[in-house]
Amino acid sequence: MIKMKQFLGCFGTLIVLIILTTYLTISSLNPFDVYVSGSVLAKVLVSLLGAMLVTGMLGLVQQSLLRIFVRGATGAPAEDARCPAPDCGLPLLPYISSHGPPIICSNCHRPWHLRCFKKEPAVELPSNYRFPKRFCPDCKVKFARAQRRDLDKWLGQLD
Ligand SMILES: [Zn+2]
Ligand SMILES: [Zn+2]
Repeated sequence: MIKMKQFLGCFGTLIVLIILTTYLTISSLNPFDVYVSGSVLAKVLVSLLGAMLVTGMLGLVQQSLLRIFVRGATGAPAEDARCPAPDCGLPLLPYISSHGPPIICSNCHRPWHLRCFKKEPAVELPSNYRFPKRFCPDCKVKFARAQRRDLDKWLGQLD
């Protein structure tokens, strides 16, 4: 999770490094001139630094999108969102790298870590039944219980 301040720090350092490399190698302040008159080393250096800059920016864009996504799902600040899994409960966004990106249950609309979402609950459905797509483990348990109740009721009528 990149913090805005850290990111701006990195961002600034990278830009300074790119301009410095350009200036030291071809005495110009325009990094694109390196591709015209710079040495191979200068081209490689500026390209690498530029790639880091772009990667960082894309990461930041992705993070803002995730924030908006989680905020839209919970209606609360993304920083407050926690995974509802009983064995997790960790904040959603800072644990993306270890627990996976947020995924929203199509039934209860709560965001979960992908890894926690995919854990199969310890319930079984009557044969021929399928869990609806994108149900979180909690909703799967509720769904399975409801199906069993229906089935039992139905079987009771047969007796
Ligand atoms: Zn759910
Ligand atoms: Zn989790």
